[in-house]
Amino acid sequence: MSQVVLDRAQAGELDAADPLAGYRERFLLDEPGLIYLNGNSLGALPLATLRRMDRMLRQEWGTALARSWDHWVDLPARAGDLVGELTGAAPGQVLVTDNTTVNLYKLACAALDARPGRRVIVTDADNFPSDRYVVEGIAAQRGLELRMLPTDIDEGVDPELVRAAVDEDTALVSLSHVAYRSGALADMAGITAIVHQAGALMLWDLCHSVGAVPVDLDGCDVDLAVGCTYKYVNAGPGAPAFLYVSARLREVLRQPIWGWFSQADQFEMGPRYHPAAGITKFMTGTPSILGTAAVEEGARLLLEAGLGPLRAKSVLLTSYLVELADAWLVPLGCAIATPRDASRRGGHVSFRHPRAERIVEELAAGGVITDYRTPERFRFGLSPLTTRFTDVWDATQAARDLIEREG
Ligand SMILES: *Cc1c(COP(=O)(O)O)cnc(C)c1O
Repeated sequence: MSQVVLDRAQAGELDAADPLAGYRERFLLDEPGLIYLNGNSLGALPLATLRRMDRMLRQEWGTALARSWDHWVDLPARAGDLVGELTGAAPGQVLVTDNTTVNLYKLACAALDARPGRRVIVTDADNFPSDRYVVEGIAAQRGLELRMLPTDIDEGVDPELVRAAVDEDTALVSLSHVAYRSGALADMAGITAIVHQAGALMLWDLCHSVGAVPVDLDGCDVDLAVGCTYKYVNAGPGAPAFLYVSARLREVLRQPIWGWFSQADQFEMGPRYHPAAGITKFMTGTPSILGTAAVEEGARLLLEAGLGPLRAKSVLLTSYLVELADAWLVPLGCAIATPRDASRRGGHVSFRHPRAERIVEELAAGGVITDYRTPERFRFGLSPLTTRFTDVWDATQAARDLIEREG
């Protein structure tokens, strides 16, 4: 470890050379001195969203009232196409709607119905709670078998374990692309191919990838995907999630919630349900229009910055953090609980320490916002649009001082 890297001036030089540095000013972030490393939990507020919400509330809702539905009605699919640009999906395959959990349920049921006779759902034992609970519930309701992959919680899903777990009885495999706890990045192309060889369908959760890691859904031949928008997409608390259904399957699959927004002729108000054509058939009821507009603004900002530059900065940020942590935190008994190879991780880095929960509380008291995850882990989430290298330096130094002081 060179002394230069440990010098705060180096962090300042990295900020000065950062082509995305200007994007931070496009967010509210108005608390002086605050270091926010929790954008992977709730992203910051874009100023464009603030202006858009004001306009929508005053003019579109306040003045125009129900007349606004004329242009609101297409918003979920329009915002979906923007999220599609972020995730390598051609237009017409992504919809912004509901939350991630509900979308997981809809797509998992649709996939199982498309593989009648197959009795096994595979997920990983360290997948995000909703992802596990939803398939646990579906397996219980339908009398299916749920196979849990034994995953190393720091290293993520091993494709060979997926290969060993799937067979001719497997209907669906559901995994997270970036692990919420460790940030480990799964091999989307490789695992999807393994699942297809067994004749099963693949469902990816992109909550911790979209906006931080390039995703190529069409290129990887993915069947189904879901993801939220309030993390790196900065769409705000409770903003609707998205779902992706490959054009190969879109006309074949049926989702389990038959609502009027997915009816072929919504205002016919007819006696029977007939699913709409296209991605619209995965809608349920009235969408959150304000939330969907916020997704549009967040996605536009990311697309303007460019997915290549975003990933390049994200890799630099996490690598810089790992370097500082090796010098300052590891000698104090803090282990790095994220893959060291930058190509195998997403936008956050986790640390293991017996007092992780207290470290997060004390950092927060000093204006450094991070978060805690069981067991004994704290995460530094580095959002490429808003996080500065000096933030990484200051936060790591604060963690070092705190651990040094309290052991
Ligand atoms: C954040 C997150 C979710 C959130 O699901 P919601 O239903 O939108 O609350 C789901 N899965 C993963 C992997 C997540 O990180």
